Amino acid sequence: MSSANTAVVIVAAGAGLRVGGEVPKQYQMLDGMSVLARSVSAFADHPGISQVQVVISAGHRAHYDAAAADLDLPPPVQGGETRQQSVKAGLEALAPLKPDYVLIHDAARPFICGEVISHVIAHLDRHDGAIPALPVVDTVKRSNGSIIKETVDRTALWTAQTPQGFHFDKILSAHQSASDHSDISFTDDASIAEWAGLEVVLVQGSRANQKLTTADDMTDAATAIALHKLAANGDVRVGHGYDVHAFADGDHVILCGVKIPHIAKLKGHSDADVAMHALTDAILGALSDGDIGAHFPPSDPQWKAADSAIFLREAANMVRTRQGMISHCDVTVICEAPKLRPHVAAMRQSLAGILDVPVGRISVKATTSEQLGFTGRREGIAASATATIRLPFEEGA
Ligand code: MG
Repeated sequence: MSSANTAVVIVAAGAGLRVGGEVPKQYQMLDGMSVLARSVSAFADHPGISQVQVVISAGHRAHYDAAAADLDLPPPVQGGETRQQSVKAGLEALAPLKPDYVLIHDAARPFICGEVISHVIAHLDRHDGAIPALPVVDTVKRSNGSIIKETVDRTALWTAQTPQGFHFDKILSAHQSASDHSDISFTDDASIAEWAGLEVVLVQGSRANQKLTTADDMTDAATAIALHKLAANGDVRVGHGYDVHAFADGDHVILCGVKIPHIAKLKGHSDADVAMHALTDAILGALSDGDIGAHFPPSDPQWKAADSAIFLREAANMVRTRQGMISHCDVTVICEAPKLRPHVAAMRQSLAGILDVPVGRISVKATTSEQLGFTGRREGIAASATATIRLPFEEGA
């Protein structure tokens, strides 16, 4: 990789309203992350980038502050009336840092990948500028209104993407010269570079690096992210767990981490949270990774009177370590008493907190065994659970 110092201008100053909605497109959310934050992160996470400067519209400051709260960025620069003026403002803000190269990127292309960024930077060692582009594959027509005038030879035609990379001093002075020629309209930075006589090379762009322009583009992007996540975790597994603890002298039981008054307690080495033990075993079962006794042996004194949340949280961490996710948990507690219905909401909340999943993915139910068997004779409590998890599909795993 080049040892040159490369800065980035991210242009987010457009009105961004063609996609619809109250919020400009660059600040709209895609799977919990704003379009702008996705674009910024692609560069901030790239080892070849030293500085990221965002240019925003003055009226969007509140949107920016919300979107950039978790990003470690210098203050945004205020853009101008046109994209060209906004880029110039961003370049001038970077000038005191004297970067060797600069990449200029549209915030509305949030799917830029590190590979394309690297390609653009790599070509700046031998050229004044480099831009990612894709060859035109459709047949291209020139029209007079809706009537075709001619078919254009597409063999030398490309569609330009961003980030467009340049030697910093050259593109800054090209922009400064171009700003004196308000009669010429430039739709990207390469066209300003061309106008200034710089040599700009085309490098391979990517189909994913499309510009989000319309409401359909936003919907398609959200769908693509969702499908990608599902495909990445295509191995759907259901695990089952079952546990029993007997009653002993006491005045409360602990179920799903909730303390519930009762005329007895549950006997066990840990806090005897039978429901949480069943669910922990269900998750371990879905992982095909032993059981709670294997991971947390009752013979180990460190688990004496332990909070069973430790076991459940560790099982959830094992799912995450394998790049998986917990889709759903369903717990059934079987006893004649205590009456659990008043506690079910708190039990669901407790499990959701320990597993760090939305409460809508947690089900807790209570039933009796109609006074039959050991639970019917009030000798103890049984619990049964299923856990549905998604893991990356690994051949042979
Ligand atoms: Mg147990």
